[in-house]
Amino acid sequence: MRHVAMLDLATEYELFRDELSTTVHAVLESQKFINGPAVVRFEDELRRRIGSSHAVAVSSGTDALLCSLMALEVGAGDEVIVPSFTFFATAGAVWRTGARPVFVDIDPKTFTISVEAVQAAITSRTRAVIPVHLFGQCADMDELASLARQHDLTLIEDAAQALGAQYRGRSAGTLGDLACASFYPTKNLGGLGEGGMIFTDSTDLADLVRQLRNHGESERYVHERVGGNFRLDTLKAAILLVKLAYWEEFTRRRQENARAYNEQLAGVPVGLPFVAPGRTHVYHQYTIRTPQRDALKEFLAARGVQSAIYYPIPLHLQKCFEGLGHARGSLPESEAAAREVLSLPCHPTLSDDDVTYVCEQVRLFFAGAEAGDASRSASATASQG
Ligand SMILES: *Cc1c(COP(=O)(O)O)cnc(C)c1O
Repeated sequence: MRHVAMLDLATEYELFRDELSTTVHAVLESQKFINGPAVVRFEDELRRRIGSSHAVAVSSGTDALLCSLMALEVGAGDEVIVPSFTFFATAGAVWRTGARPVFVDIDPKTFTISVEAVQAAITSRTRAVIPVHLFGQCADMDELASLARQHDLTLIEDAAQALGAQYRGRSAGTLGDLACASFYPTKNLGGLGEGGMIFTDSTDLADLVRQLRNHGESERYVHERVGGNFRLDTLKAAILLVKLAYWEEFTRRRQENARAYNEQLAGVPVGLPFVAPGRTHVYHQYTIRTPQRDALKEFLAARGVQSAIYYPIPLHLQKCFEGLGHARGSLPESEAAAREVLSLPCHPTLSDDDVTYVCEQVRLFFAGAEAGDASRSASATASQG
């Protein structure tokens, strides 16, 4: 039986093994483990590629979000609007500042935050909105930017899953007042450990987050505000510089996998990823949806195909946010997505034969399900008779 994994970091590693060894050795020899030259080089390279004025490397995508909120002095009494259907960090970072995460629903086609829902959730206490470019496609950024302007809100992109995605000719990471990226090993630009980046076109905000990542130090041992240790190690930056050379090719591979899935799953009764006009998708996840999700996942697993559920519990229903008073049923699109989504393997070293095998299994599942339905309804008819 064929085995198709969600990820294959070991095969990817073979591609960079020699370069990585050389790079790691060079950092060891330099003995500059903190704020070494690779950090600024990595910031500069990535900033130029996406077209942002400033990039500040930080310790993780989560810390990028936290540090951005701290720079805006978001805190107790403030509200920050976030989608409920996202990775935990989007809302966790808001909570940790003392502000209230205000959960809103998503657009069921793109899985990104609903602009109408954001509009309806704005109050006099709203300070910021964090749209998440979920699965690798940008949220409705122009509409959100116009809302933000009208209500004097700050827009923070959570671009952790979407580096490389385009929105009306601009790159994810350049569409908000601040943007956050993650280099967690499984992300599209994955490092060997934790890592993140903050992008902004504002020199003031860039200076602020630079201070905050280093305990709020404005000059040596002078602290005008309290920050944290949010630095990215030299070693990780040097490794990310190596990985950066493969990033665009890997993005193309993900997009080719997605195209093959789209072709071979056409006509199968599942929802395929919807790419909104004027956008490109970088397929951090290739996510389909079906009410028979759990049975399909089990069927695939029995045939050697891994799949994953991102995410099974929408954040407004998490125990830690119970105090915010969201009832089940209050954000129906997020709840339906949590029940129906299934991500299929889409990583850059997946082969064409892997994709074909996965699609065959998905088709087999639905052929069987139809046959099952037909026999059930036939017996129902018989018993009525
Ligand atoms: C991965 C991720 C983060 C957090 O990034 P880390 O580097 O793991 O801290 C935040 N938001 C989203 C949507 C993510 O996928």
